Amino acid sequence: MFAAPAGVSLIVGRPTIRGPSPPCFSEVFCTAFDLAARLYLEWPHSLRREPRNPTAPYMIVSIANQKGGVGKTTTAVNLAAALAMRGRKTLLIDLDPQANSTISFLEHGAVGRSTYEAIADATCSLADIILPATTPNLFIAPARIGLAKLEARLVGELDAHFKLKDKITQLGSEYAHIVIDCPPALGLLTVNALVASTHLLIPIQSSYFALEGTDDLLETIEKVRQRPNPALRILGVVITMHDKRTALARDIREQIQKVFGGKVFRTVIAKSVRLEESPAYKESIFTFAPGSSGATDYYSLCEEVIERVEARTA
Ligand code: ATP
Ligand code: MG
Repeated sequence: MFAAPAGVSLIVGRPTIRGPSPPCFSEVFCTAFDLAARLYLEWPHSLRREPRNPTAPYMIVSIANQKGGVGKTTTAVNLAAALAMRGRKTLLIDLDPQANSTISFLEHGAVGRSTYEAIADATCSLADIILPATTPNLFIAPARIGLAKLEARLVGELDAHFKLKDKITQLGSEYAHIVIDCPPALGLLTVNALVASTHLLIPIQSSYFALEGTDDLLETIEKVRQRPNPALRILGVVITMHDKRTALARDIREQIQKVFGGKVFRTVIAKSVRLEESPAYKESIFTFAPGSSGATDYYSLCEEVIERVEARTA
């Protein structure tokens, strides 16, 4: 656990739904003060400008939220594609045994060795497994279902949390941007991603249970920042699958904004059938449906991401 800053008392707890219907948002968002207090800890960091290391990637961003189906993979795939379209080499690392990022660009048969071997096997590097995607400048470190065995394989290894960081360090500055798609869990894979990253982007689905579990995620981030990676920054929270026509979605957006304040990206990712369809065609939204709202939203998110990273980097 971490210490509360002066003047801020922490009420640690999980949002719970109790009481009779109709549902009461103040109960769902009962940890608002707790979360705000945790984010308060971010501000001194955010005011400091970090020197750029010319021998490392410009940005290594984990897309993480232990809740399933909130838009992590859709965000990782399309943010990576948008970054690649800006003309700099971008690597998408698939750290989810479901391999959804991988199959968004590659056929199953195209994948040989995967992130499992690159992390677990000392003789296999990331460079050995990386494949080009259909988008220029975009490369993929693919996953396979076998990645689920990683935790058991690394039990007892003292540097288990640093495996991915070490392999990324070997790549030097070959890739300007690295995007890591995390699994829906806070286990060893996600911790490896957080230890290796300069930034974290949290997708939150515009749904009634939007903030449930967020306190566990923030606690994990705090633990990572206390020891293995004090430089990790929360880049922001992006609201996904938003349907602005419904009053519920508008209320949820307001509540997320109350809790996370300036951390919420101005860009909101709207619900879009085209975003659901594009993986089946092995394309990002930018080539599959360039005129769609999904393409506009993810392009705009990418611009904001670059803006935020540049604001903090000398
Ligand atoms: P998991 O936790 O299982 O890895 P995830 O957080 O990576 O899931 P996604 O796979 O990106 O979530 O999205 C879950 C589902 O929602 C997918 O079917 C995806 O196509 C769909 N989806 C994601 N974003 C949108 C959107 N903006 N509009 C419509 N559908 C979306
Ligand atoms: Mg996913």
